[in-house]
Amino acid sequence: MKILLVDDEPFALKLLSHQLATLGFGEVVSREHAADALALLESGDQPFDLILCDLQMPEIDGVEFIRQLVRIGYGGGLVLVSGEDSRILQTAERLSRAHRLNVLGALHKPVSPEQLQQVLENRASRAAAPRPVHKTYEREELRQAITGGRLVNYYQPMVDLASGAVTGVETLARWLHPEDGLVFPDQFIGTAEETGLIDDLTRTVLTNALHQACVWQAAGLHLQISVNVSMDNLGLLEFPDAVAEAAARAGIPSSNLELEVTESRLMKDPLASFDILTRLRLKRIGLSIDDFGTGHSSLAQLRDIPFDELKVDRGFVHGACRDSSIRAIFEASLGMARQLGMKTVAEGVEDQEDWDFLRTSGCDTAQGYFIARPMPAADLTGWMAAWEIRRRDLMASRP
Ligand code: C2E
Ligand code: MG
Ligand code: MG
Repeated sequence: MKILLVDDEPFALKLLSHQLATLGFGEVVSREHAADALALLESGDQPFDLILCDLQMPEIDGVEFIRQLVRIGYGGGLVLVSGEDSRILQTAERLSRAHRLNVLGALHKPVSPEQLQQVLENRASRAAAPRPVHKTYEREELRQAITGGRLVNYYQPMVDLASGAVTGVETLARWLHPEDGLVFPDQFIGTAEETGLIDDLTRTVLTNALHQACVWQAAGLHLQISVNVSMDNLGLLEFPDAVAEAAARAGIPSSNLELEVTESRLMKDPLASFDILTRLRLKRIGLSIDDFGTGHSSLAQLRDIPFDELKVDRGFVHGACRDSSIRAIFEASLGMARQLGMKTVAEGVEDQEDWDFLRTSGCDTAQGYFIARPMPAADLTGWMAAWEIRRRDLMASRP
């Protein structure tokens, strides 16, 4: 593996080279000036697999260097090194990831041999994520999909953190497209909102979810069913009555239904929305503030709307145990929810570290790939049987 070190401090370069040699990495080239490093990279004479770069450099600083790496299409690994405040280092790391650079980690100076080794071990497990292709669809095609039954519900389990028991599922819409296969909601919810199809879409998703809940209930499975609604659904004053009637028709107690609201678009008519949201709660239908912590769900909403559940956005869950900024925001959100008497859900639980952290955090419920990916309804009972076994192991270890 060929490694390039960039740091304006000669001593730091010496130390890192020595540490790398001890770890068995002998092919190391050092540069004190970022401009020289860039020239070397651009010449293409020596392709590098990994760059370790300091952030604080006099002429071209680390952030500018990152931008230049993107410009020249550098595809190898990158490790950021800095003596700066750890929040600056974390932000630079996020910036690099947003540029789709293959960031293996960020190291605080002075770098310890253990930290260095750990970051280098990340190399094998991480490859730069490909850019997803984003296609948008025309209104007419979406309308036909909704009326033609090509919109199906996937369900993602939510589990109680204290016991590991499955408490409910979140309904996530999918479009079974004849040519494009399974299309995800970020490719059609926006169109539905902009073209006035969102009421039809929500009605379809909700009806199917309630029907499925009825099937599960008959099999003895009493799950909370969460359904996402758009702020644009909250313009029709009849909405709460329609939802309550649909639940009654399916034989599902309204208290088993939770509507997740994200402010993806501005409230057109705040008074009507407040009216509708309050009447939903009066009908014992649950209201969850979704993606909490992002720009879409604000403290003002928390103040004005009688939510009974708060879902912390995955941006403040995954990695919270390692990142003190994320953790501070996560814990503050939980504290607020608790004081307001709300249930708490953490979304985006992706690995064992997230799970272990959450078990000690006081959060009620967890949802994420670590537990299960969204799945078709038919797969749920099979998954539950497997989860029962896994859950015993997970709960046996001390949090
Ligand atoms: P959301 O309500 O916040 O749903 C959670 C999203 O995060 C889902 O994406 C889910 O698959 C994904 N997810 C779950 N666990 C993890 C994890 O551990 N890591 C990561 N990285 N992601 C995870 P999906 O299904 O693509 O849905 C995206 C968004 O589309 C949803 O976000 C929701 O806002 C919206 N949406 C989905 N179905 C509907 C619907 O029927 N109506 C409306 N209005 N919006 C919907
Ligand atoms: Mg949701
Ligand atoms: Mg969410």
